[in-house]
Amino acid sequence: MREILAFLALFNCYPVATITPSNETFFLGGVIYMRPDMVRREVLIHELVHACDYTARGSAKNRADWVYRERRAMAIEGAYIDRERGGGGTIRPLNISLPMALK
Ligand SMILES: [Zn+2]
Repeated sequence: MREILAFLALFNCYPVATITPSNETFFLGGVIYMRPDMVRREVLIHELVHACDYTARGSAKNRADWVYRERRAMAIEGAYIDRERGGGGTIRPLNISLPMALK
């Protein structure tokens, strides 16, 4: 966990969140709902970026804000994966689909 927090600090992200087991993995209202078979460092990083954004600015204000936050979480997650594979922390192009609730 210390390594994850040190990596997030590179992005000025110091998360505060509760993590609880769930049937799906997502962030909502300060809580990370985590499917037990999804507990991996890159998944935690993604959800903890959402926690930082939530602490800084509350819930997503609209669809564009939600997409922006999802891209940011995916980019930081991707940079972590790239670094773990010996890369330089490259940020890749991303494809994002909106959850049904926001369509
Ligand atoms: Zn997300």
